[in-house]
Amino acid sequence: MEKLKVLTANRIHTMDQGRPYASAVAVSEGRVVSVGTLESLQPWLRRIPHEIDDTFKDHIILPGFIDPHTHLRLSGTYMGLNYVGPIDSTDPQGRLVSSLADRNAVIARLKLLVDSRNDSGTSEDNHPLVAWGYDPGMQGGHLDRKMLDAISTEVPIWVMAYAPHIIYTNTPMIDQIGVDVDSRIHGLGRYPDGSLNGWFIETAATAVASRPVRDQLYANGFGRDALALQGQVAVNSGVTTTADMIYGIQSFDTEWDDHAEAIANGMLPLRMFLVPFEPTLRKRYGDDFLSFYQTMAAKSTDRLAVHGVKYVNDGSYPSMTLRLNFPGYLDGEEGLAGEIPWQDMFDRMLPFWNNGIQIHSHANGDETVDMTLDTLAALQNASPRFDHRFTIEHYCISTPAQARRLAALGGVASVNPYFVHYRSQLHADQGFGPDRSEATARLGSLVRSGATFALHSDYNLVVAPMHPLTAAWIAVNRLAADGTTVVAPGERISVDQALRAITIDAAFVLNQDHCLGSIEVGKHADFVILDDDPYEVDPMKIKDINIRGTILAGEFYAAKT
Ligand SMILES: [Zn+2]
Repeated sequence: MEKLKVLTANRIHTMDQGRPYASAVAVSEGRVVSVGTLESLQPWLRRIPHEIDDTFKDHIILPGFIDPHTHLRLSGTYMGLNYVGPIDSTDPQGRLVSSLADRNAVIARLKLLVDSRNDSGTSEDNHPLVAWGYDPGMQGGHLDRKMLDAISTEVPIWVMAYAPHIIYTNTPMIDQIGVDVDSRIHGLGRYPDGSLNGWFIETAATAVASRPVRDQLYANGFGRDALALQGQVAVNSGVTTTADMIYGIQSFDTEWDDHAEAIANGMLPLRMFLVPFEPTLRKRYGDDFLSFYQTMAAKSTDRLAVHGVKYVNDGSYPSMTLRLNFPGYLDGEEGLAGEIPWQDMFDRMLPFWNNGIQIHSHANGDETVDMTLDTLAALQNASPRFDHRFTIEHYCISTPAQARRLAALGGVASVNPYFVHYRSQLHADQGFGPDRSEATARLGSLVRSGATFALHSDYNLVVAPMHPLTAAWIAVNRLAADGTTVVAPGERISVDQALRAITIDAAFVLNQDHCLGSIEVGKHADFVILDDDPYEVDPMKIKDINIRGTILAGEFYAAKT
């Protein structure tokens, strides 16, 4: 064994419930050799050369945080587009890009961009103006064709929502995309009179809308730059493991290579799981998906691996395109299902189920959660399985009955809790109504049902940070954006439950709890270094705890602000 490095700390929370506390951990070859006290470590220290590192002796060590649902590469590429979002953002070089307050400000910005282009006289008129970041909830309602035509009927305008489940276009852009009033595409938006309103909703329609702007969306080199930027964001947030939940949307090979290169160059200090998007996987490999898996598994390392399969079965929470049961949306909108017809879901999932490939199925609204649970029940009837870890992704709007059924079927949930704080009051009066907005992310119900769950950010494709301590803070306090209202207080969970959901239980959801998520002998030495103890501070301060950095496979990475 290589020389041992022994880290000491004020307290180590191992997240191993059997041995919860420690003050020293010995690491070699990137893995934990022993965790306990300097005294308990002696049988190892007497036998093997070692150095004791007291750098963090006054700090708190936890397992590195796991955010089991992000989109670092894709969202990083969007950050290179013209930005029209409601919160400050950065460009791919990390420079601040300011927010726009409302829809009028967005329209003014788009007009400015069109005018400055006309003034410079360099671009041909048919080259689309591409923007990202619009938030119909926070910025005061959807855009549409008529609004964008009022900016220009010459320059094609293409605006993607921050949560990229909807794209807004003007008439010349619609012409360039090549659809018309007779087109029959799932998710093509229309005015009440049947004419096109310029919306392209969900993956089938957004893929069609994206074809003419592909070169701008996926400019060469964007992917690696994006990963380098996001790698530091992850360190700053204490994240050491994540899963990209839409692998293959541009290209399986390019995306894999970008990650492999970023990891090899030290720009991405993360363990990264890439989860193939099922419609893309089917288009590329049909029923030969297992050979794809074998090829990828052969290339996998403990830093980069292919994992599971991903389905997207309704719209988004912030874009207000998810599917709701009765009484539906306040304004009578219906949201939209994903591109796979729900009646085909069982047949589409069965081969993955039968081959032991973990299914991650996106369901934001309660109607979609019902469909997902029906499908899981049908899979269990057809081919019963234990420990399948079928995961409902997001689980935003649900009921207590759904939590019990999820547990009964052996499923787990990867929940986005951020909307409870950032959006529950907004959507009480826009979109979902007060009951469903208040009860977004029913974590207390999941605890009571006995279902295991993780907390995730979906960063950066919804208007929320990637910051697991903020996710835990929201889960524990459920404080709304006004800073005083506690929404659905019975859905709050304990500090321990919240911290499990960003460490060991998140590892369980990614089927990695045998090697990640807690500080135990034999596991990867992935830690987060905190200034204060999240178990000891006022629960209202959990999100403010300073993060000093992460340790990945025994190597320290400093947070930078
Ligand atoms: Zn996502």
